[in-house]
Amino acid sequence: MQRQTIQRQIVLTAVQTLCHATADEIYQYIVASHPRVSKATVYRNLGVLADDGQIGHIKATTGADYYDCTTTPHYHLQCDRCGKVFDVPFLYLGELNHIPTDPGFVITGHTVLFRGICATCNTEKKGT
Ligand SMILES: [Zn+2]
Ligand SMILES: [Zn+2]
Repeated sequence: MQRQTIQRQIVLTAVQTLCHATADEIYQYIVASHPRVSKATVYRNLGVLADDGQIGHIKATTGADYYDCTTTPHYHLQCDRCGKVFDVPFLYLGELNHIPTDPGFVITGHTVLFRGICATCNTEKKGT
């Protein structure tokens, strides 16, 4: 197997293990077991895998972007305090992609990011 292919596989496996993680978290995870893999390599491969549709890419409004092991369209929750991203167990409203638009504009999808405080942060706040 080519070196490039091996590195791409390492990055893909890391995303599938972490499920929702930032590029930096993915790099930290990989470098722990593959110390010779560079940050540039991880970032480049994340871009390639996302463009290729093998991993999801969540463009966050605040903070770093997230990569996702789930590639089918779904919604997310993001904690305002720790920044963690979770999936929303709710139907994806595909019909929203058919809203009337400028005739020259083709809708390819939509993103919904709910914000709030996750259960862990909520518990910490109460001081248990
Ligand atoms: Zn949190
Ligand atoms: Zn997700």
